[in-house]
Amino acid sequence: MRKFTGMAVALVVALAAGSFLTAGESFAQKKRFIAIGTGGPTGVYFVVGQTICRMVHKAAAEGRKTGRKHGIRCSAPSTGGSTYNIGQIREGELDFGVAQSDWQYHAFNGSSKFKGNAFKKLRAVFSVHPEPYHIIVGKSSGIKSWGDLKGKRFNIGNPGSGQRGTTEVLMAAYGTKKSDFKIATELTSTEQSKALCDGKIDAYGYTVGVPNAGVSIATDGCGAKIINLKSGVEKGLVDKNPFYAFATIPQGTYKTTDADVTTFGVMATFVTSADVPEKVVYEVVRAVFENIDDFRKLHPAFANLDPALMIKNALSAPLHKGAAKYYKEKGWM
Ligand code: GLU
Repeated sequence: MRKFTGMAVALVVALAAGSFLTAGESFAQKKRFIAIGTGGPTGVYFVVGQTICRMVHKAAAEGRKTGRKHGIRCSAPSTGGSTYNIGQIREGELDFGVAQSDWQYHAFNGSSKFKGNAFKKLRAVFSVHPEPYHIIVGKSSGIKSWGDLKGKRFNIGNPGSGQRGTTEVLMAAYGTKKSDFKIATELTSTEQSKALCDGKIDAYGYTVGVPNAGVSIATDGCGAKIINLKSGVEKGLVDKNPFYAFATIPQGTYKTTDADVTTFGVMATFVTSADVPEKVVYEVVRAVFENIDDFRKLHPAFANLDPALMIKNALSAPLHKGAAKYYKEKGWM
């Protein structure tokens, strides 16, 4: 009994010391690890995540010199993409993620793939680069339009990727079924260009920033082309949905882009959960916007990033409080 009492006292003291430490210690002195969900290693989301972490660590290093410490350590692993990231943020497994604006919209509003399963705690942080939806076709596939995909080997993308969802939306809009393809593969963004160049598939669909390493493997590497998607079907999608817009992949982007390509697209957005503390989101956002000039230089898809647009374009979930706090302090809101 005495031993038990002793232990209990020790425990109470330890707890008190612990809570004292927590109360006395500023947020900045505590280490906090955050994880950002991205996409495949050859895409642009991966660079977004790596760049954000780089800015967070830069702010940490500067803070160590000036005494303004935030204590955040950041990692941005490769993942399955948009809807995987949203799902893992909901589970609390990821703190942040990059996601297509269409899937941000549907997840928050409980529509499309998220019907009956709305994620009301989803929060927008900012939008990043435009992502045209690409259909990339093999050099000698003879595919010139969506209709030509019939009877072909088409990669619809891995479950969890944004392009998988957007491809399914396009299939529904065209009335195309999986069985209309010779095979519908589920390769990841990293596997698809190699599969196209090896002649294992005839085409793939990919929603991604321009330019990027994955697409250049297929275009510059083995003569694949990006086709136009500008029929009444895409016009219908753009007219009916606030998160779609027509987009151009400019002539000369890749070796085989011998004319501008017109297609529809979305925006890449950076999202989190209302459960992620305000201070964490504030510090991440601050690190990004205080270093936006460096950010723009880290990928050609980031060259035109404009804070005024990033904080309002393509965001359908409410802004996270920590992000709004920084934007208000800057006088941007
Ligand atoms: N838009 C793709 C997705 O949501 C990812 C593109 C990228 O990795 O840059 O899965």
